[in-house]
Amino acid sequence: MTALNDPDAIVEITPSAGIQVPRYGWRAKCLQRLVRMGLPVPLSFAISADAVRAIAAGQTPDPRQLAAVIERADGLVSIRPSAANPAWGGPGTVLNVGINDACHARLVETRGQAAADALYLGFVQSFAIHVARLDAEAFSDNEVGLAGALRAYEDETDEEFPQDPARQLAEVLRSMARAWDGPTARLLRQAKGAPTHAPLGLIVQTMALAIGPGVTGSGSIQLADSSTGMPRITGRFRGQSQGRAKAEGAETLYLTRDPRGPSLEEAAPEVFADLIRYGVAARERLREEMLVEFVVSDSKLSIIDAVRVPRSSRAAVRIAVALARDGIIPTEEAVMRIEPRALSDLLHYQVDPDAPRDLIAKGINASPGAATGQIVFSAAAAQAAEARGERCVLVRRETVPEDIRGMHAATAVLTERGGMTSHAAVIARGIGLPCIVGASGISIDTRARTMLAGGRMFHEGEQITIDGTTGEILAGEAAMLEPALDESFTQLLDWADAHCRIRIRANADTPEDARTARMFNAQGIGLCRTEHMFFDDQRLPAMREMIFADKPGDRRLSLERLLPMQRSDFAALFEIMAGLPVTIRLFDPPLHEFLPHDREGMRELAESLDLPLSDVTRRVEALSEFNPMLGMRGVRLGITVPEIYDMQARAIFEATIQASKNGEAVVPEIMIPLVSARREVELVKNRIDAVAAAVRNETRKDVTYRLGVMVETPRAALRAGDIAEHAAFLSFGTNDLTQMTYGLSRDDAGRFMSAYVGQGVYGEDPFHILDREGVGELVAIGTERARSRAPGITISVCGEHGGNPESIAFCLRAGVNYVSCSPFRVPVARLAAAQESILMSREDAESAANRES
Ligand code: PEP
Ligand code: MG
Repeated sequence: MTALNDPDAIVEITPSAGIQVPRYGWRAKCLQRLVRMGLPVPLSFAISADAVRAIAAGQTPDPRQLAAVIERADGLVSIRPSAANPAWGGPGTVLNVGINDACHARLVETRGQAAADALYLGFVQSFAIHVARLDAEAFSDNEVGLAGALRAYEDETDEEFPQDPARQLAEVLRSMARAWDGPTARLLRQAKGAPTHAPLGLIVQTMALAIGPGVTGSGSIQLADSSTGMPRITGRFRGQSQGRAKAEGAETLYLTRDPRGPSLEEAAPEVFADLIRYGVAARERLREEMLVEFVVSDSKLSIIDAVRVPRSSRAAVRIAVALARDGIIPTEEAVMRIEPRALSDLLHYQVDPDAPRDLIAKGINASPGAATGQIVFSAAAAQAAEARGERCVLVRRETVPEDIRGMHAATAVLTERGGMTSHAAVIARGIGLPCIVGASGISIDTRARTMLAGGRMFHEGEQITIDGTTGEILAGEAAMLEPALDESFTQLLDWADAHCRIRIRANADTPEDARTARMFNAQGIGLCRTEHMFFDDQRLPAMREMIFADKPGDRRLSLERLLPMQRSDFAALFEIMAGLPVTIRLFDPPLHEFLPHDREGMRELAESLDLPLSDVTRRVEALSEFNPMLGMRGVRLGITVPEIYDMQARAIFEATIQASKNGEAVVPEIMIPLVSARREVELVKNRIDAVAAAVRNETRKDVTYRLGVMVETPRAALRAGDIAEHAAFLSFGTNDLTQMTYGLSRDDAGRFMSAYVGQGVYGEDPFHILDREGVGELVAIGTERARSRAPGITISVCGEHGGNPESIAFCLRAGVNYVSCSPFRVPVARLAAAQESILMSREDAESAANRES
């Protein structure tokens, strides 16, 4: 038996028919639900996906069966696609299949000449263009008239327009089945996540005619606003119009009473009242805000279709929360319905999707949100613009630590080089600044202060817009949508937290970051990168003095100047976090990052240190390394120049005492970066213990702390068992771990990443989405080995992946206790972690049920 002979190849959609989504598609299922609700849905049939596949492959349905369908449907039908998922789209609807000269003559009698002509013409046009694939120009103009269109058809095909309704239907079905298999349609739906061989069902439905006497027309209605999600009746009603067919007297009516013109509510109050009633009922029964398509035929209402209301991110959140509050869906389902990434649209300004865009180049969308400002090419120019009260976009080849002040002054950052974890990207995400990196299509001339992009030259001071959500660089100012941190957003995340199996912390280096973290309900700070505190203009001189000190005694003196500053930094963080855990990472970067890189800077430094310029140059050269990311940084610095960590430990303990006086008791977490051997941990731990003992003696206050180790070298992951014996917690620094596992520079990868991803070498940028196979395996091995030696150890991830939904899902299953990410990514992380937790709970419940049965 072939798929077409199967008795269920074409089934009538009745309340009890066996309509399943995988077999007949979502639209068939949705129509069945509307039928079950008792709504006036015209007689409808569902054609199975297997049958559609057979038709696409060249098989022909039995003409007698098709004729029977059309006859039962009163002679005229529409055909609509019904994919398994509405997002996958499908070929366009074809209306009025079955119309021929005889039917036209009948329609002239019942509906009048104009209506009959318009309906027939509409079908001839669709059939000619989409089924017979004739030149659209000859048919698309309504002025050709019915007779002209029929003549054009005959001229082009040398045959009469098909008069047999069953043949018309067979050909429409074939053309829709084939269109679904075409390469463009396939690519489009695959981009929306459809599998290669996604099934397509088709719906054949009796036509409800929207052209004819009395109040007649077609329309759609929805009860929630697509942009805001607020309750609001929107839609349209087009009198005397159906699809492309229009008859004389065609006019668009408002749905509700409106001073600007006539409305359906006034023209047909009962129809309008029914529509509202059906909309409310559909929301409850289909558990979704629906857009209902309808036809009014001489004041008789038919519901022909319903789809989910299309919605912006903010509307999606509001709608899901309202459905849960009204008891229509459980809160768990509201949490599952929102795409985590969509939340970041609510936190930032967005370029209005409906506004025009003057695109000049694209780069990596490193930090979401959008901002417009004048181009500046240096941090100093950014600060000057800020001082003048002007908004600016900092455009750099790449940013360096000295640019931080300029980044704070700018409204957005654009770099020619760099990847997802380059300096600009990490800082921008941390402070919620829109940022695009690795924009290799732009070319900057810092001397001339110009930027070439998309073949156009831009000068300093000209306006551009950075869309960090999409990675698009736009010329001029773009229309923006405001952030929407409303009450629905907070409610959704509160529900999410209730389901979440892990905690979400924030990476925060400054009091401002910490406040943002709290605003988004982060459950602590998982990473404070202390080096960022030293780039401040006030502190840099002391830092440089410390670096230039030859003897430990001199170094100690400079560190003593830094101590009170660090102490107040930490005390501020502890106070803001009010008893929540705060993880402070000891100094990590190579020292030379704090030294000037150009001659002018060195001259200034020589002056301030009162040293000959040659001394300064020599020292800077001596500190330079061939490969600083693999050189003297992290714990290596802590072991060879231990005074720095001593100072930081003391500042932490003293700040703990200070903050505990004013509020909740604080137990600081101190974390050692870039460890690769257990002995490194022992050495640093001994010194920190000694500092703790000294502070205890001096203050007569009890100070305790939790020691953590960053696992960011492959060796540390493999030796996590040994290391765990000395640590209260391990935190995977997946940025460095990715860099070192791949042997791939996180600052340079942006140059070739798109070529690598484009050619399928990497499925995704591994600095963006955790590589499950390699880096992920190290995370899994490290976690398992650490827990086998120290079962109670806390494990976390604090690299940028901690804010990426797919990576969070992986880490959750690998058994981490928390992830930590940039403050502005905390909401996305809370939702993503909650969704994965819900999936895991469902899996647990399923396996428990299987065990019982
Ligand atoms: C990491 O390497 O993942 C990390 C968190 O540290 P940083 O990005 O500061 O090197
Ligand atoms: Mg690191």
